[in-house]
Amino acid sequence: MTELNAAREAAPSGVDVNTPSIARVYDFFLDGKDNYASDREVAQALLDIVPEAAIVARANRAVLRRAVRYLVGEAGIRQFLDIGSGLPTAGNVHEIAHEIDPDTRVVYVDNDPIVLVHGRALLADNKTTVVVQADARRPREILEHEATREMLDLDRPVAVLLAGLLHHIEDQDDPKGIAAELRDAVPSGSHLLITHFCDPGDDPLTDPMRAALRAKMSGFVDRRREVIAEFFEGLEMVSPGLVHLHEWRPDAEAQEQDHPLQRFMVAGLARKP
Ligand code: SAM
Repeated sequence: MTELNAAREAAPSGVDVNTPSIARVYDFFLDGKDNYASDREVAQALLDIVPEAAIVARANRAVLRRAVRYLVGEAGIRQFLDIGSGLPTAGNVHEIAHEIDPDTRVVYVDNDPIVLVHGRALLADNKTTVVVQADARRPREILEHEATREMLDLDRPVAVLLAGLLHHIEDQDDPKGIAAELRDAVPSGSHLLITHFCDPGDDPLTDPMRAALRAKMSGFVDRRREVIAEFFEGLEMVSPGLVHLHEWRPDAEAQEQDHPLQRFMVAGLARKP
């Protein structure tokens, strides 16, 4: 049996293992087990060009954890809407939040069916966390989804997390409009986190990896920093603003992750006044 056939047999129903999936390629870079031959082929093509590519994935995950700690620990947030949440991996949003307050409510949203399968299994007995399959390009459906309505009180502050998501949303699908619709749906005191692949202009270090991502991942769009900054329109940036991943409220782990490839992505958190 070929590896691909073996993977196809092992795949949960509804999951197409022959088409690479963003969630599963990312899972591979984070040393997860929920990836298949087609995903590993994409990941390997990236690693062939930039052997340290996984650093970026790990640094993105790390900044997400730091932001959740800040949001629960310092900003008093007790509700999360994590869109493009990805496969469950070590240090999920609900785990980090629950270390500080176990009553924190989390809605995970992803359009990849594998996330729903694994999320449901992981969260079967969890009363404060739920996973929803929906498309970020239709925020209204997410906000009006029964599970979102049951889990979140949209009259109280919510942290909307768009970590590693908007660079998978093409211009024609209006990423700025998506961010604005989510911003408008939540009350004052809510927060928006965005991490995003950044086009730094001519950059001999990141150019090959950006070219490989564009070639291998359909719908991948890295954007200039000033374009990403516009996604926070109407919000107040939380210090230190929109910066490279390891510069966002670094802890010891972030300092260890300091690497020139970090120029590849930016992170920003903002508060709705
Ligand atoms: N947010 C996690 C993090 O930062 O660690 C995972 C990021 S992962 C790189 C991007 C995720 O966005 C994938 O799980 C992918 O399936 C999801 N995604 C991409 N396009 C989407 C869309 N239109 N609607 C919902 N999810 C989407």
